[in-house]
Amino acid sequence: MTILIDVVRDAQRSDNGRRAAELSAQYEGWTPQDILRDAIRNEFLGDITLSSSFGADSAVLLHMVAQIAPNLPVLFLDTDRHFFQTLQYRDELVARLGLTNLINLRADPEEAAAEDAKGTLWRTNPDQCCDLRKVRPLDRLMDGYGAWISGRKRHQAKTRANLPIVEWDGRHFKVNPLATWTQADLDAYFAAHDLPHHPLVEQGFPSIGCFTCTKPVEDGGDARSGRWAGTEKVECGIHNPIYGGEGI
Ligand code: SF4
Repeated sequence: MTILIDVVRDAQRSDNGRRAAELSAQYEGWTPQDILRDAIRNEFLGDITLSSSFGADSAVLLHMVAQIAPNLPVLFLDTDRHFFQTLQYRDELVARLGLTNLINLRADPEEAAAEDAKGTLWRTNPDQCCDLRKVRPLDRLMDGYGAWISGRKRHQAKTRANLPIVEWDGRHFKVNPLATWTQADLDAYFAAHDLPHHPLVEQGFPSIGCFTCTKPVEDGGDARSGRWAGTEKVECGIHNPIYGGEGI
């Protein structure tokens, strides 16, 4: 019986991996707005959320989603270690764009007390800290959904250079409508729609996470080089595939 269940699961995983590849090919060359419209109103109707860091570029995707489905669940991982400017920017954008379904996700209080009583886990074990404050809260919420939208882009870092438009991570589909957009595309969208910038951008933060783990980027560094600067860590873990390196 266990073997049969495993076989069915493997088949389903590879079907979902295939579907993600088909959708990526279908969406290639589409505008981000058209990708979002199809993903929200057709392909993943009622089964999709948007995860936003309310960081440097977030206003673009949030503005697009607000035009299509202002009641889409917008997930914010409230790690309790955000810059106060990020929290203010989150509230300003939500009000200005008319988003009606912001969900702030936090670490389980018992898990936080057991694993990080001193509040220093970010320094001693940042992978566990991200797991506690980002990965597990998102996992719990996403148990009820089949897909989520992320604002990742290929130009942001070498590790994202081959980012597909749609991925299957082993449990969920991930839609990356801005995958092919450049910084110039983003700047033009901000200007065209008169969107406010995160106040830390002009202080040298092109990518903004927790204040404990984010530094301004040095000249010539890629946009995410200020995140966990000086360590091997490059991602928080919410974008790691669950099964296998290719996320099938
Ligand atoms: S970015 Fe730093 S403080 Fe924030 S959850 Fe990860 S390790 Fe913890």
